[in-house]
Amino acid sequence: MTAGTFLFDKVAFIGIGLIGSSLVRLIRREGLAREIAIATRSPATLAKAEVLGLGDSYTLDAAEAACDADLVMICTPLGAYEAVAKAIAPALKDGAIVSDVGSVKACALRDFASNLPAGVHLVPGHPIAGTEHSGPEAGFAELFNGHWCILTPEKNTDAVAVDKVAELWKRAGMKIEIMDAAHHDRVLAITSHLPHLIAYTIVGTATDLEEHLKKEVIEFSAGGFRDFTRIAASDPVMWRDIFLKNKDAVLDILGRFSEDLTALQRAIRRDEAQTLEGAFTRARAIRKGVIEAKQERIDGKAD
Ligand code: NAP
Repeated sequence: MTAGTFLFDKVAFIGIGLIGSSLVRLIRREGLAREIAIATRSPATLAKAEVLGLGDSYTLDAAEAACDADLVMICTPLGAYEAVAKAIAPALKDGAIVSDVGSVKACALRDFASNLPAGVHLVPGHPIAGTEHSGPEAGFAELFNGHWCILTPEKNTDAVAVDKVAELWKRAGMKIEIMDAAHHDRVLAITSHLPHLIAYTIVGTATDLEEHLKKEVIEFSAGGFRDFTRIAASDPVMWRDIFLKNKDAVLDILGRFSEDLTALQRAIRRDEAQTLEGAFTRARAIRKGVIEAKQERIDGKAD
């Protein structure tokens, strides 16, 4: 690829775990940037990224990586955003695009908008693809292929900047949807955050069982429990931040879920066969819709 056809001249990655390293691999494979600068928090992760040959330069200083970058892609847990934004702000060039991959979007806009200089284009994003693994060694360029990427820029954001970020994710094989940040957070509260909370709870309940029962739960886990353990194996820090940053939407959806669960509990106690069958039949129809929308995962990976 010649210099003229790069999508970006310099891309800086702040955070190089599963998502950051997957996108870097994709950018390298497709030749989408002339230069890739990598910054992360710990020397150990930086050394891993260097051994894997992910970037052109490596630093523990986010500002150093962001200097002169056309695109700064923030790939850290959400709880680090404010500090990262403050750190890179003085180094950003006029017209630079700042984007991210975080799983909650209203907080991303808030943390970036209040700390970044005017003249920088803010295009928050969320590639809805992932696994339960972490770190630069866990990434792979095909991770995003066939999944949705939701972008949540504010209405007055520079259209060229939005298009460039959209193009990057399209080259990763993703389908793009532009959405209001608060709407994204409500949708993801039900499709992703609540299921993870339920998985963490079920696995927690099993952990507290008496020893002999716990042994059997693990032995006979194919009865449904196994899938919950996979989801509950997701990174604890990342999920801590998701629940704290999407508190209102998660609490709202959790309230509705608790009411529905109580209704089913009552139906079981009262032997209300029709109520149970009706609820399960409705749920089955949703499954059909998910398969028709080609959102079923057959490779056992979590989003
Ligand atoms: P990861 O594999 O755990 O990597 C996280 C990266 O962020 C590492 O480079 C880590 O640095 C750095 N980091 C962690 N805490 C930091 C802090 N306080 N300050 C500065 N840097 C810090 O995480 P990931 O799975 O790639 O997730 C990254 C983001 O993607 C999250 O915001 C998450 O919401 C979003 N996301 C994840 C998935 C998924 O399935 N995993 C899917 C979609 C979106 P060190 O290792 O050097 O400490």
